[in-house]
Amino acid sequence: MTAVTYEKAQRLYPGSTTPAVDALDLEIRDGEFMVLVGPSGCGKSTSLRMLAGLEEVTSGSIRIGDRDVTHLPPKDRDIAMVFQNYALYPHMTVAENMAFALKMAGVGKEERAARVKEAAALLDLDAYLDRKPKALSGGQRQRVAMGRAIVRQPQVFCMDEPLSNLDAKLRVSTRTQIAALQQRLGITTVYVTHDQVEAMTMGDRVAVLKDGVLQQVDTPLALYDKP
Ligand code: ADP
Ligand code: ADP
Repeated sequence: MTAVTYEKAQRLYPGSTTPAVDALDLEIRDGEFMVLVGPSGCGKSTSLRMLAGLEEVTSGSIRIGDRDVTHLPPKDRDIAMVFQNYALYPHMTVAENMAFALKMAGVGKEERAARVKEAAALLDLDAYLDRKPKALSGGQRQRVAMGRAIVRQPQVFCMDEPLSNLDAKLRVSTRTQIAALQQRLGITTVYVTHDQVEAMTMGDRVAVLKDGVLQQVDTPLALYDKP
């Protein structure tokens, strides 16, 4: 059971008078692709970063499954994060980049190789495993960044505008790939974007934020029908 539950989760930045995220109640179901959408500054990243443990929760709580993770450090949360700034280690090959976190976590060599191979197959990266990042296209690099997350087999994926560095055409093809991949892996995913089309095409459900307050949560289809 890897549902994610925010209960009255609030983030008040030090020195600020209004919460960046205010009493967020949101349940993300096991295996669901949930998109957080809204204009710049509405609190999407803060919500995601609280879940990943990168931002303190001022009050309220966050659970993964039935485990309260509100005050756990990031490394104890079993979450993999994909950012827009997906810097890869330039001196390592694609395979080494993908295996690095596993190595740090003490996963054995054979297991690392098997997981990298499996992720590479899913991401169409088999032919590039021995290359360095500088020899890859932007889309391929983004897939390596996804691969680094996948090999960890986390309970939850957190993605913060992972496509925003790609050109428009690549964004469209990559968003289809990410959605298909998530469906195949069935890993509970929270995906942040300011792009409404991205939200509507990728999400099982979409949570709309405004000024730190959750406005509505629904399927894309239901949201289309609402004013
Ligand atoms: P979004 O991801 O929707 O663009 P953010 O979560 O980044 O929104 O920001 C929400 C609000 O919190 C904004 O008003 C932003 O200025 C503020 N904020 C974000 N990070 C910090 C920070 N480190 N310190 C103070 N305020 C912040
Ligand atoms: P070294 O292997 O020389 O000790 P690191 O492995 O820490 O160095 O970093 C090597 C390169 O990878 C540096 O250019 C650094 O900027 C970059 N780097 C460091 N941390 C990260 C990270 N989390 N994600 C992507 N690139 C990183």
